[in-house]
Amino acid sequence: MHDGKRVLVTGGSGFLGSHLCARLLELGHEVICVDNFFTGSRITVESLLDNRRFELLRHDVTFPLFLEADEIYNLACPASPVHYRRDPVQTVKTCVHGAINMLGLAKRLKARIFQASTSEVYGDPEEHPQSENYWGHVNPIGERSCYDEGKRCAETLFFSYHRQHGLPVKVARIFNTYGPHMHPNDGRVVSNFIVQALQNKPLTLYGQGNQTRSFCYVSDLIECMLRFMASPPDFTGPLNMGNAQEFTIRELAETIIDLTGSASRLAWEPLPADDPAQRRPDISLARERLNWEPAVPLREGLRRTITYFENLLREKKSR
Ligand code: NAD
Ligand code: UDP
Repeated sequence: MHDGKRVLVTGGSGFLGSHLCARLLELGHEVICVDNFFTGSRITVESLLDNRRFELLRHDVTFPLFLEADEIYNLACPASPVHYRRDPVQTVKTCVHGAINMLGLAKRLKARIFQASTSEVYGDPEEHPQSENYWGHVNPIGERSCYDEGKRCAETLFFSYHRQHGLPVKVARIFNTYGPHMHPNDGRVVSNFIVQALQNKPLTLYGQGNQTRSFCYVSDLIECMLRFMASPPDFTGPLNMGNAQEFTIRELAETIIDLTGSASRLAWEPLPADDPAQRRPDISLARERLNWEPAVPLREGLRRTITYFENLLREKKSR
């Protein structure tokens, strides 16, 4: 017996989900990890499978789910532009039907429910940095819209369930996060650049590389998620989560070449449609309400991530 909660994590075998599941187990909770393995894999949660408090369930959240839980973290959704553009219809279904199913479950269980929303709800922002009050600048029919508008609709659903049914919701707008357990072919910039650098291949800069992002290390983000879930029920968000240090993509590439000691050069490729020109979170609300501050600087987080990918590529080679 233990005095922990039973926590459902959808998308639990993805990058963020696998870290969240591991942390919840460390804190003594029971974890039900639900995933359809669209982008995630069993490998990220392999080390958890022997834990008696961990259960892995293959399930697509676009279909209803019946189980018992005290809290729900709804993370299921491909997060990399490469993945969500590959199957935009499924991405919208996951965002919208997935939210409806998980909200319906939370309503029956009277459970707290966390939504992994995204900085993409701000689109290509005209306000900088982005605070939670900004309504965004999103192309509703563009290539990224399956994700951006899917996530915006999910936010609408969360706040509608909150208003109409009094459901305790926690909506987090997550900014670019990186770390171990990212998929090597995930297509996101940090994993792409590290894998390319470790293989001495050219680092693919889309556009001029002048666009900016702010990168948060995964352990900082998970801590923020847990604090948010534990905060008073009237604190619903939306809440920005991320690191407020802003870098150009070119600076990121140069830092990764430096840290890996790689012989890679930079290669310029076309900028994908609707790629936001700048992005940096205003995290004053998280600072004030959760007393939270990212602790891991970019170079340190990149070092840890590089070590992870070095081991992964070595293992692949020896197989
Ligand atoms: P990820 O792609 O690594 O993980 C997503 C997981 O969801 C995968 O395991 C995938 O198989 C699963 N999934 C997808 N569709 C599903 C479905 N229909 N049913 C069940 N499982 C499904 O992505 P991530 O980086 O771990 O992101 C997790 C969540 O956080 C996503 O909702 C994403 O939108 C959000 N987010 C992440 C970031 C980031 O920088 N990592 C930024 C903003 C928002
Ligand atoms: N990017 C890049 N090279 C890559 C992958 C991404 O220059 O190999 C750029 C991409 O165009 C974007 C930024 O890096 O401007 C971040 O991309 P990512 O896919 O990681 O996340 P986004 O913030 O666009 O959702």
